[in-house]
Amino acid sequence: MHRKRYLSKRSLYKHQSLCVCGTLSPRHKEIGGSVEAQFEELQARLREVNDLESASALLGWDQTTYMPPGGAEARGRQMATLARIAHEKFTDDAVGKLLDELKPFEASQPYDSFAASLIRVARHDYDRAIKVPAPFLTELYTHAAASYDAWTRARPANDFATVEPILEKTLDLSRRYAEFFPGYTHIADPLIDASDYGMQAASVRTLFRNLRDQLVPLVQAITAQPPADDSCLQLHYPEDQQRAFGEMVIKRYGYDFERGRQDKTHHPFMTKFSIGDVRITTRFNEHDLGDGLFSTLHEAGHALYEQGVNPAFEGTPLASGTSSGVHESQSRMWENIVGRSRGFWQHFYPQLQAVFPQQLGNVDLDTFYRAVNKVQRSLIRVDADEVTYNLHVMLRFDFELAMLEGSMRVRDLPDAWHERMESDLGVAPPDNRDGVLQDVHWYSGQIGGVFQGYTLGNILSAQFYEAATRANPGIPNEIARGEFGTLHGWLKENIYQYGRTFTAPELVERATGSPLSFEPYIRYLRNKFSELYGL
Ligand code: ZN
Repeated sequence: MHRKRYLSKRSLYKHQSLCVCGTLSPRHKEIGGSVEAQFEELQARLREVNDLESASALLGWDQTTYMPPGGAEARGRQMATLARIAHEKFTDDAVGKLLDELKPFEASQPYDSFAASLIRVARHDYDRAIKVPAPFLTELYTHAAASYDAWTRARPANDFATVEPILEKTLDLSRRYAEFFPGYTHIADPLIDASDYGMQAASVRTLFRNLRDQLVPLVQAITAQPPADDSCLQLHYPEDQQRAFGEMVIKRYGYDFERGRQDKTHHPFMTKFSIGDVRITTRFNEHDLGDGLFSTLHEAGHALYEQGVNPAFEGTPLASGTSSGVHESQSRMWENIVGRSRGFWQHFYPQLQAVFPQQLGNVDLDTFYRAVNKVQRSLIRVDADEVTYNLHVMLRFDFELAMLEGSMRVRDLPDAWHERMESDLGVAPPDNRDGVLQDVHWYSGQIGGVFQGYTLGNILSAQFYEAATRANPGIPNEIARGEFGTLHGWLKENIYQYGRTFTAPELVERATGSPLSFEPYIRYLRNKFSELYGL
């Protein structure tokens, strides 16, 4: 019978020391039956899955940073092998049985306790994982690899016709994936749920529609003004100095280089192998100062989240950010709300000028501040400014829903893209290269469930920042002195430490006192850009 018992850290530690190798010895079976033993066995199994996934992530990091081209083929196979073994181990019947047996124990523990949270989150992941049959996953991954390969050739050639049938299949696979999760309201729900658990197509659609109604006139008002001059960013900026300056800033943010490092890649990302090893990557363009610097600040924001997770969660499914939207809220906050603020540059601009006296010696703070906040109608999402960025995201989100619903055909994408860009941004791509072929996402095996995270992140970045400054009104002044401890501390305390303990909606409510709302974000944009553009 199950007994209510509080598992202290000490008893957990004792069990761990019984089985330091992390594998399941017969000893577990001998002591099986007690709740502690079952919980320890669950943790040991999850740790093994985590180790395999972390090893695969390390191979992935190497693949995109230092691996010579000759390693590509074998590396793909090696990562697929690790992913398969991790999936098999995680979906093992024994894991399901343990989760079933631990249900009463979970119910007996406080909701936010380590034990209850771990069992709840593992159950959520397990229930999702077992619903998707392995042969389907193999088909999906194989198609994703072929699709990505085709896209890398189709985009430079402006060749939508070649990828059209491939996208048809991607759409079909995405629909079939959703069908493994019956009971949804909208067919995109299971896809959205996978990265932004707790959000649904209908609620995101309403949120985005309301936000779009406010953003389109704001973009029109700003772009009716004379454009900001950002030519000072396009001078020659040697890479080594760019790198040193960016790393100096993120150290001040609180990024711990004893538990991380920065390397170069083509498409910057953050990756984590443990709470003690959270890495970021960046790229430099010697003729665009903003490219490398803001990419470093962005990825450091993701990394601060992962470095801030409670160390006791190491090796468990709790040890990561809770959703793609909350994750993106941190990268966007440190990149934009902090890193593109006037206060930030009041402090750091003299230092930047000292690093680049020839390029910036005669450029005043106001000109530089306007340059890094230039708003313009542009074609490419990843290069878009803070104000127009979301319109790019919403276009993709709406098209994903329409394709999944069957109200838009793949072949209609290029024309629809053209029309929507014209109406929302007042600029339309001359070809498909800078239209429907520009993002890798749909050519990576899935249509649906990815783009919403970017705009949810922007919305949440402002909501969290507003809550942090409400609690600590001195934060903006600290930023203007190059100090970030109070903001970083508030984020660790209210968001980072919890990892996946709370779902995104729960976390937002707890941290800000209200459900997700785009009002703080609109307030932030209006204040900042009215001042910048004299609206
Ligand atoms: Zn990001």
